[in-house]
Formats: sequence, C-alpha cells, structure tokens
Amino acid sequence: MTDINNVIYMDHAATTPVYPEVIQAMQPYMEESYANPSAIYRPASQAAKAVSTARAAIAERIGALPEEIYFTSGGSESDNWALFSVCEARGFKDCHIITSQIEHHAVINTCKRLEKLGVKVTYLPVSGTGLVDPRKVTENLCPETVMVSVMYANNETGTIEPVSEIGQLLREKKVLFHTDAVQALGHIPIDMNILNADMMSASAHKLGGPKGVGMLYIRKGVPAYPFIHGGAQERGRRAGTVNVPGVIGFAEAVRIATDNLDHNAEKVTRLRDRMISRILAEIPDSVLNGDHDNRLPGNVNISFKGIEGETLLILLDRAGICASSGSACSTGAIDPSHVLTAIGLDEATARGAVRFTLSEHNTPDEVDRVTDTLKEIIERLRTACR
Ligand SMILES: *Cc1c(COP(=O)(O)O)cnc(C)c1O
Repeated sequence: MTDINNVIYMDHAATTPVYPEVIQAMQPYMEESYANPSAIYRPASQAAKAVSTARAAIAERIGALPEEIYFTSGGSESDNWALFSVCEARGFKDCHIITSQIEHHAVINTCKRLEKLGVKVTYLPVSGTGLVDPRKVTENLCPETVMVSVMYANNETGTIEPVSEIGQLLREKKVLFHTDAVQALGHIPIDMNILNADMMSASAHKLGGPKGVGMLYIRKGVPAYPFIHGGAQERGRRAGTVNVPGVIGFAEAVRIATDNLDHNAEKVTRLRDRMISRILAEIPDSVLNGDHDNRLPGNVNISFKGIEGETLLILLDRAGICASSGSACSTGAIDPSHVLTAIGLDEATARGAVRFTLSEHNTPDEVDRVTDTLKEIIERLRTACR
C-alpha cells in the first residue's frame, strides 16, 4: 500500500481521513457492545442507548430535534430517499421536481430515474459562478411541483448556494425543500432553524467520519415514504440494522468538526486564498472556477488553458500529490464535468480543470510545494506542445 503519509492529500471533497478520536469512539461498538440495538437483552439496550445519544448529539449541533434525524448508508442513499419519497406519495404521476444542473450525481441520476417513472423534472441553469437564482426557482413552480432540491454547497466548485433564501420562498409557497448538505456539514455553519429546509442529506466520511454512514434530516410533520423496506428500524422509516459503530463515529466527527469549525474554516480559507492567488499570479492562462465570495473554505478549482486535467492529475500523482479533476465519481468517464459545463465553460476549459480540496490537515508549506510542482509541470507540458 502507498503510504498516505508520504503524499500531499488535497482531495478532501472526495473523502477525509477519519479523526483518531472517531476511531477510538467506534472501537467498543465492534469489540464489546456489538449487540443488535433492536434486541431486548441488556447489551442491546446499551447499543440502542449509544445510538440515541449520537442522534441527539448530531441534532443538537444543527438545531434539529433527535426524531428528525434518520441514519442511512450515506449521502447517496439520503438523496435517493428524499426524492423518491415525495414522488412515490403521488404515485410518480402529476408530479414535478425542480433541481439544478450542478447537483451531485446522487441527485441528478435519481431525477433521471424518476423521469423514466413519469415524473417531470426541471434542471435549473446556474450563473457563471455556479449560483442558483432563487427567483428562477419560484418562476418554475407549477401546481404539480412536489419538491425543490438544491445543494447547500457544490462538491466541484465549492460554490455555496443561497439555500436559506430558496427555502424561505418555498415555505411561503408550501413546496417541500430538500438540500444536499454533504459538502457543507462540519465545514460551514448549518442551523435548521434558519435554513428553511424540510429535508437535508449529509454523509459522515466528508467530515472526518467513517464511510458508509450518513443521515437524512426530515422535518417533523413532513410525510416520508420509506426507501429501504424491511424491519421497523428508524421509527419504521428506514429498514436495516443500524450501523452502530458508524453512527457513533458520525456523531463524534460532527462534534469535532463543529467544535473546531470557526478556527478550521479560517485556517483553511487562508490556505485556499494563498494557493489561488499564487496560481493565478504565477501560472499564465489559469482561471478560477466557481464563486470568489460564496465559496467553501477548502475549495481550489482552476482551469489551465490548453492542458488536459487528467494528464495533470497523473503527473501530480507521480509527484506524490492527490487531487482531482471534476468529481471523483466521474473519473473514467470521458465527458467533461456537468458542473463546469453548466457554469458555461467551453469543453477545453472544462477538461483543463483541476480541483484541490484542502483541510485543516494541510499546511502553508504543502500549499507552496504543490503550487511550485504545478507550475513546473504546466511549464513542461506547454513547452512540449509548442
Ligand atoms: C460525496 C457526496 C455525495 C455522496 O455521499 P456518499 O456518502 O459518498 O454516498 C452526495 N452529495 C455530495 C454533494 C457529495 O459531495
């Protein structure tokens, strides 16, 4: 195995290292308290109690009620559930959903599936920096609209959407609002009391927790059909034995990430801005993708004219640097990123994009080393082309 300690990891939007405290918190729920929390013997109630403590802890951090948190297998399941649930309530007929062109594939591909089942979907265009216009959301509402789904922050460009404003407008119109907050939770403040969302997806592994666990927030009183059928876990709304160690780890990760949010966001923003300004100043024909102001603390997404992003990634990897082009999920696919296309980049510029996503684990020295390496590689590639 490649020793991850010998590389510079700048792909935190793809996944994050698990906090040592999270691993420690999870361990007892695999070794000792391994009982199925649904059973009736005492060791089971110990596990059940830990799950309910974790649920309450996560709820408290986002201004929600414990009974509004439903544990799932991750962000993808939560997105699928939210969208399917409202459409199934209408029998997939006379049913309209509004979403944006820059959503994660977990939302986009779920919408495509729903279209095959008879649901109408509007994919809203975005501005050149990736922002959804709240007025366009209301302009596209029709009597059949059951839900609007707009992500909290984009995984490729880091653009933070005006979600509270969209939620406010939809509340007045009595249309349900779902937001994919996978990139936001633990990175920027989230408060369900001002968000005006009825459903919200999150995932543990994007904030220092384990993979394969996440949640769907469902506001109290909002009807929701189950998506996974089986046992009566999660108050009959999500079947399957609860991932006890995962849930414990998720809660611990949320605790650490939110406790340190202000400090980390400030530190990571400084690293991000140092990297962006150095690259733009020192590498000719480089352009920043996404919004300058409404941007996740750790996101650096830059296109280099005349360069193939994929080639750059391979050369960066050889230099021990982990980054990504577009989203990790579309690696292997030859189409340019749907997000970069939606913000209006021509195909060549979209293909020349590289995404570095930083965390509090990165240092100014790493930022400088990566920038220097990038500069060198691009110079080399450009001379070779001439
Ligand atoms: C990673 C990600 C997902 C998928 O989450 P998983 O837990 O990996 O299924 C969904 N939406 C966004 C915005 C993401 O970044």
